[in-house]
Amino acid sequence: MVKVERSFPAPESLAREAAKANGSYSEPDVTERLEKDFHNKCYICEMKGLQDPEVEHLLPHQNGKDKKRKFDWENLFWACRHCNNVKNQRKYDAGILNCCRRDPEEAIAFGLEEQRVWAQAKENGDQEAVLAAQLVVEVFNLCNTGMRVYKSKMRLEGLETEMNVLYSQLGRYRQNPDSRRILRTLRALLSRESAFAGFKRGYVREHLNEYPELKEYLE
Ligand SMILES: [Zn+2]
Repeated sequence: MVKVERSFPAPESLAREAAKANGSYSEPDVTERLEKDFHNKCYICEMKGLQDPEVEHLLPHQNGKDKKRKFDWENLFWACRHCNNVKNQRKYDAGILNCCRRDPEEAIAFGLEEQRVWAQAKENGDQEAVLAAQLVVEVFNLCNTGMRVYKSKMRLEGLETEMNVLYSQLGRYRQNPDSRRILRTLRALLSRESAFAGFKRGYVREHLNEYPELKEYLE
């Protein structure tokens, strides 16, 4: 999970649809803007190029009973169906960290070790960070139904592939620290727009003593 810059003002359809009895919060102006603002990446698992994106409500609108939340631009997020489903549990209703308002990387450490994802809030009392960390772990590791085994595994494999690309570029960088081409590749791999950026940036942040020059790509 990384910081996302939400654009303003809110898409125009939201106010119009909120005034209707059964308005929609996912008119084209909303979905197009979310896709762009979120770099077509699920804000929870950070998978890119989603085939099943959904407009997700950070705070639940209780089947439309809470109209303000249902049409509030700042409550709408871009997520894949898998993550949206996993998040749809009571324990997350209190609200996970809002990645458009707070920088998740300042509040949570993310990592991949021995084919398991881990995430840890930096402060135990930071409840929204604790919940967000728990959710990120679940979307990669949760295997309580057949489809979830498949979908969690798919995400984990995507993450492993991307981490391997990063490790191999870091290896090439160690051998050729002056290569502009390798630095350009690393810059792209560590950009917040890239797939699984939170994990890649977390890895480099943890190993900054080996790669001090890469610090600027994490800013
Ligand atoms: Zn996802």
